[in-house]
Amino acid sequence: MSDCIFCKIVEGTIPSFKVYEDDKVLAYLDINPFSPGHTLVIPKVHAANLLECGDEGLGTLIAAVRKVAAHLKTALPCDGFNILQNNGEAAGQTVRHIHFHIIPRYEGGGCEFAPHQGDMAELAALAERVRMA
Ligand code: AMP
Ligand code: ZN
Repeated sequence: MSDCIFCKIVEGTIPSFKVYEDDKVLAYLDINPFSPGHTLVIPKVHAANLLECGDEGLGTLIAAVRKVAAHLKTALPCDGFNILQNNGEAAGQTVRHIHFHIIPRYEGGGCEFAPHQGDMAELAALAERVRMA
């Protein structure tokens, strides 16, 4: 979709801090993370939200979410994680390309759902570390 920022990330016309990619799915760090390692997992084919995503695509996507979450758990490492998926503006969805948030959690680190301005150098280093693990 031409005016979709996440489609542009898939095309490579907008940069991202990529942590995982296969032929159907892309995962990259959120630039305004709720916690260190906050990752978004998206399908490469555009669908606006959960209701517009077909069963097969959704199955592929959620399997990738689990795979990336398992990898983050050992690569970061983190102690737990939340999965968040917003549908519609009223639910806080700001980008209309379906995405699952993986929000890593750390013992004693709290569990808040609030964005923090990401430091680009730190995000780049973290993505590199996760990719290499
Ligand atoms: P949502 O509120 O569920 O639609 O989440 C959209 C998320 O996308 C927010 O957490 C943003 O920080 C994140 N985001 C927006 N643009 C980018 C980008 N270019 N790269 C990485 N994350 C982004
Ligand atoms: Zn899109």
